[in-house]
Amino acid sequence: MDTYQHILTSVDYSPHGRRVVEKARQLARIHQAQLSLLHVLDNIPMPQMPYGTVIPLDQPTDNVLLAAEKTQLIKLGKEGEIDHDHCWLVWGAPKNDITLFADNNGVDLIVVGSHGRHGIALLLGSTANAVLHHAHCDVLAVRLKD
Ligand code: AMP
Repeated sequence: MDTYQHILTSVDYSPHGRRVVEKARQLARIHQAQLSLLHVLDNIPMPQMPYGTVIPLDQPTDNVLLAAEKTQLIKLGKEGEIDHDHCWLVWGAPKNDITLFADNNGVDLIVVGSHGRHGIALLLGSTANAVLHHAHCDVLAVRLKD
């Protein structure tokens, strides 16, 4: 069996996020793979970032919203036994930047949640759909019940 070396789980902080992380953690255990956790920030105005688009979690920040984002991510990482060093906040658009992060970091499996939308929501396209279409590695969509 081919094993995965680096699994990426990307989360949006919805109540289902833990299920996605848990599934990724189980897979990382089975494959003895590195596990990384990613959240793409697309809704907080941050005009001048001194350190590019990747926001280091150990940097102090005056931005209350950003601090709250960091806290949430670290909490989720802890629950999933994901090392602080492997939790990432990236500034950008989830539909592009999850796969970009995967490409740039040697990820061979991306684990995302999927709500199994249909109708107009499917036409507009979900994040899971975009990841599936743009990824250069395997993608696992964890079906989430609404
Ligand atoms: P959605 O299609 O927006 O319901 O999101 C489906 C899945 O895409 C979520 O369960 C996450 O795994 C991932 N996702 C959505 N938004 C983000 C985000 N801002 N950062 C990282 N992953 C995300």
